[in-house]
Amino acid sequence: MSLDWLDSELQRLNDHGLLRGRRTIRPLGDGWCEVDGHRCRNFASNDYLNLAGDPRVLDAAQRALSEGGAGATASALICGRTIWHERLEQAIADFEQTEAAVLFPTGFAANLGTIAALVGSDDIVYFDRLNHASLVDGCRLSGAKLRVYRHDRLDVLERELGKADSESRRWIVTDSVFSMDGDLAPLADLCDLAERFGANLIVDEAHATGVFGDGGRGVCELSGTESRVAVRVGTLSKAVGCLGGFVAGSEQLRNWLWNSARTQMFSTALPPSVCAAATASLQIIRDEPQRRQRLHSLSRQLVELLRESNVTVPEGVAGPIVPVLLRDAQATVATAASLFDTGFLVGAIRPPTIPQQTSRLRVCVSTAFDETDIDELAAAIIRVAGQ
Ligand SMILES: *Cc1c(COP(=O)(O)O)cnc(C)c1O
Repeated sequence: MSLDWLDSELQRLNDHGLLRGRRTIRPLGDGWCEVDGHRCRNFASNDYLNLAGDPRVLDAAQRALSEGGAGATASALICGRTIWHERLEQAIADFEQTEAAVLFPTGFAANLGTIAALVGSDDIVYFDRLNHASLVDGCRLSGAKLRVYRHDRLDVLERELGKADSESRRWIVTDSVFSMDGDLAPLADLCDLAERFGANLIVDEAHATGVFGDGGRGVCELSGTESRVAVRVGTLSKAVGCLGGFVAGSEQLRNWLWNSARTQMFSTALPPSVCAAATASLQIIRDEPQRRQRLHSLSRQLVELLRESNVTVPEGVAGPIVPVLLRDAQATVATAASLFDTGFLVGAIRPPTIPQQTSRLRVCVSTAFDETDIDELAAAIIRVAGQ
């Protein structure tokens, strides 16, 4: 069996400016990195609060590494749930102010396993068209009927909910921060609809944990909807700076996921060092709210500078994810390359990650940087992308 057909498929991607490669990065600390021998400021990572390299986080990881070993050696179900996992699950439940929390190997695995464990094939899922790939795959795996909506047209969602067979169990599934647009889901309105039509809400706070809300608990906290959302999913791999996914909720939900979420049951648990690092990082997020305040002020500075120079930043951008809409895929790649030449690493986002003709640069602000870095980045973007 030959895989030669892959050559023509890869060529086709290349012809459309859609071929992806991989860069190798050497982190240099405080937001700087080296790529192909070239030093640059990393505005593409999700380390919003600059915690991945924090000495307190590293110290916690190192201690657990010597005590707990390099790997967990088994799934949590068998014998991989160590004292570091237990502590982290308790720390997440305390942080999120829920009864319980369940760890997963990644945020992707949390969404896949949780949705497949909760949603049945007779159910109906109302699904935001801009949701993350892991939510898409979780819903596909569940076999449920999928109704795609857009969060700027909740009147359409309302009509759809009104049409549905009231016998089926219903779910509304949404990101809380849309990862490619940087805007927020209208959670209060979604809760109103869910309650009116007897649906449950599953909210993925991947880009929101540590970033939104006074306590850093995310957009559910910010919008006052925590008690109205049945299932909250998060990740430890973005603002928390480590790795791992989690679900925060009731003990009942935890017990169900322990018994039926296959990505939790049949995949090796996180390394103890990662659990200890994430526990330390969550403590910093609780103790140092000034980090997220500063993150928002730097993000606002960037958006204002870009808009003053007529660079298109979509409405609704509410935090550290700042898209710069260029539309054409090849132009986006070329612009990101010239920013790289001037010392800024930013994402070039193209189809199929996003719809055709909506290609964009995606800048992720981090508290690793200061006002001068933001001024310099804005000037560089305006030079290459301004009208
Ligand atoms: C990044 C992301 C995930 C996946 O989380 P990982 O921990 O990186 O696997 C899930 N959902 C959303 C919305 C994300 O942005």
